[in-house]
Amino acid sequence: MKIDVLTLFPEMFPGVLESSIIGKSQEKGLVSFRVVNFRDYAVNKHGQVDDYPYGGGAGMILRPEPLFEAVESLLDGSNPEEQKPRIILLCPQGERYSQKKAEELAKQEHLILLCGHYEGYDERIRQHLVTDEISIGDFVLTGGELPAMTLIDSVVRLLPGALGNETSAMTDSFSTGLLEHPHYTRPAEYRGWKVPDVLLSGHHGKIEEWRKMESLRRTLTRRPELLNQFKDNPQIIKLLEKIKIGQDLS
Ligand code: SAM
Repeated sequence: MKIDVLTLFPEMFPGVLESSIIGKSQEKGLVSFRVVNFRDYAVNKHGQVDDYPYGGGAGMILRPEPLFEAVESLLDGSNPEEQKPRIILLCPQGERYSQKKAEELAKQEHLILLCGHYEGYDERIRQHLVTDEISIGDFVLTGGELPAMTLIDSVVRLLPGALGNETSAMTDSFSTGLLEHPHYTRPAEYRGWKVPDVLLSGHHGKIEEWRKMESLRRTLTRRPELLNQFKDNPQIIKLLEKIKIGQDLS
């Protein structure tokens, strides 16, 4: 997979792209990055990339030329046989990011991420350049760099071969549609707090059953709206009923 990032602050990226799973994924050849400062495509020799909003008002707006030209230069010489890249605008007004979206993007060959700054973007960038607009949540950051890094991290860890233990991405919260069950490790007792007996029993069937129940319980108490997708699943409904009446604890 190729991931290109257009930003005014390229110096923010090396630490994240070179560390941990993302750094290793680059070494393994699973992903390659180009981080481009779109000020290199400024409209004049003063490096101008933004301007005042037509109609007046606070803040500066990113002009269309630098972003269009930076994207076009990244596409120059690309193989017309290749899948078209997804050109993603990070912005608080976009589609709310989710694990489902990360899974969809992980199947692409080429992503181009546009990081905004200042008050916003000229609307023609949204209308005529990008394929997706993504928000990482209902809050406003100063720039799109941290959202781009969040997206990169969530996508790269899903690339086949990126994680040591392939099953861990499959059982993570949201991948199953539920929050993940609690985990415990050694010691079996710490300050009087004991690990649940079932996890020490060595009985794989019972452990799986416990994990399923705890995953459902956690989802029910913390994110009940996630359970709507199981409303036609009689097995899950039955398990949830048991949790609600406390029968599973007997
Ligand atoms: N005036 C804009 C608005 O009300 O939608 C907010 C601009 S924000 C200060 C500057 C840049 O930060 C945005 O263009 C975007 O790239 C990025 N940004 C801020 N919050 C974000 C979020 N929740 N998700 C994705 N990108 C975000």
